[in-house]
Order: sequence, then C-alpha cells, then structure tokens
Amino acid sequence: MKEPIWLEPVFKQMVWGGDRMRGYLGYEIPWEDTGEAWVASAHPQGDCTIAKGQFAGRKLSWLWDSHRELFGGLEGDEFPLLVKFIDARDDLSIQVHPDDRYAKVHENGARGKTECWYILDCEEGADIIVGHRAQDRDEMERLIDEGRWEDFLNVYPIHPGDFFQIPPGTVHAIRKGTLLIEVQQNSDITYRLYDYGRQPGGKPRELHIKQGKDVVRCPYTEEAAEKKVFHEEGYDRTFFVSCRFYTVEKYDIRGTLLLKQDHPFLIVSVTGGEGSMDGLPVKKGDCLILPWGYGAAKLEGDLSLVTAHV
Ligand code: ZN
Repeated sequence: MKEPIWLEPVFKQMVWGGDRMRGYLGYEIPWEDTGEAWVASAHPQGDCTIAKGQFAGRKLSWLWDSHRELFGGLEGDEFPLLVKFIDARDDLSIQVHPDDRYAKVHENGARGKTECWYILDCEEGADIIVGHRAQDRDEMERLIDEGRWEDFLNVYPIHPGDFFQIPPGTVHAIRKGTLLIEVQQNSDITYRLYDYGRQPGGKPRELHIKQGKDVVRCPYTEEAAEKKVFHEEGYDRTFFVSCRFYTVEKYDIRGTLLLKQDHPFLIVSVTGGEGSMDGLPVKKGDCLILPWGYGAAKLEGDLSLVTAHV
C-alpha cells in the first residue's frame, strides 16, 4: 500500500503536565496541564484515530485487527509499540515497570514495559532519575521503607539530544522542565514508589510498594550507550537503540532523505521543522505509520524525525 497511516494524538491531563506541546509541537492541547500526547497507540487507554485516507475515522486497534497485512502479517493480539510525547512541568512520580514475565503472572497476562526517552528540550539545570545505588535487595528495601530517596536514586543532569533506554526493573522518573518523546512497549503498567507526598484533588495517588520492590533490579547496572551519528548528504542519521522490542533512530534532514521502509511497519514522528513526504506536507507534531511494502518515502525540507519499528 502506498498510503501512509496518519494518526491523531490522544492527549492526557496529568498533575505534572504543562502547556509546552502547544508551542513546541503545534498541538491544540485541551488543558494547560497536558502531560502526554499518545501519537502512535492502539492501547485501550488511548487508541489513536486515523486522520485521513481510506481508513479515516477508524482506530489504530481496528486497523491492526482488520488489516494485519499492513503490518507485515505480524502475530499478536495487540499492536506492539506505543509512542508518546511527554511534557513535564513538574516531577513525575518515582516508578518502575515489570518485565513481560512478572506482568503476565501478576497483571492478568499484560505485557511488561521497556521504554526509552529522547530529550527534545529541557530547562537549564534539568535532571532525570535512572537507576539506584543500593548494593543488594536488603539495602534497596530499607532505603525505600525509610524514604531515603536521595541516598537511593541516581540523578543525572540532562540536555536536549540525550537518550535513555529504560529496561524493566529500572527505577526512574522524568523531572520538571523536560519535554521528550518516548517509545515503549504497548503497556500501561507502572508501579509507583514515591509521589513526593502530592495530593492532587485532595488525596494521594496510589503507591505500589510491594510490586515495585518485587521488580526493582539489584544492583542496578547502567545500560551501555549505543548512540551513533552518521553524516550523509542531505541528512544526519542517529542510531539510538535496538532491543528485543524496538529499534529507535532519528533523522535530521536539511535537504532530501529517501527513507527505506523494509520493516513490518515504520512509525515516523516529526519532532521539528516542516517539509514534505512524497509531495504531501508534513510538519512538527505529525505522526504516521508507513505500512508494510510502502517502499521508500522521499522526505524533503528542514525536518527532524524519530522513527521506531519492531
Ligand atoms: Zn516509566
């Protein structure tokens, strides 16, 4: 099929959300505390509507169920990936996700969650939490029970362009002043360890200390960075990560890119600029899927894209 699948974002109001997706991505956000835009999702909590073309008005989950040939005939009940933009005006809770095995047993057969982040923009002095410093499970449990978060957690300064891979079992938190794009397994299972004592709407959000302790990896070992930049004529390609669940790359185009689509499907999220794709206008904030057999897409202009495929 030579027709891209254009998707509409699903917005999420969050206690920690902000309004920066309006200016940075050009979205008409519904709230001043919009925390997330799910731009490629078939998850029941936020199933993207197809924006135009022969399937306009249908949901991505419907397309996955009804036209599996567009996804290379991949197996599975659910579309495997979820891509979102996140705007954190305030700190997100300290959290951890289970792996597929734990989620299957303890969460009704759900999937675990491996996720990764590419930092689009952040405030001067912004930081992020990835991993912890406890040497063993006893120390980990003690530091959590005693609420000694500063002794427990790894805090790293961040800058636009940084990339983080977050395997299951990694304690993490996005913190205030950060705008990023996340690629993850299609899962919404989060164990919240600490929420800074916040009481949105007068009551605290639920914590999941027991499950959280069950799944935190101990000791934490840092993911080796794989990031590589390739300078080509007309564009730069940055390779970030390839794991069991996804491969994520970025293209910065200042001219022309022939983007080869030789995967079951390819998710393309425009993170900056404007231009055209096979003659159709594309701009920051757009997200589309190039289906199986699309061939090569010709992208022209001044554009930054983050791509993801299984
Ligand atoms: Zn997370």
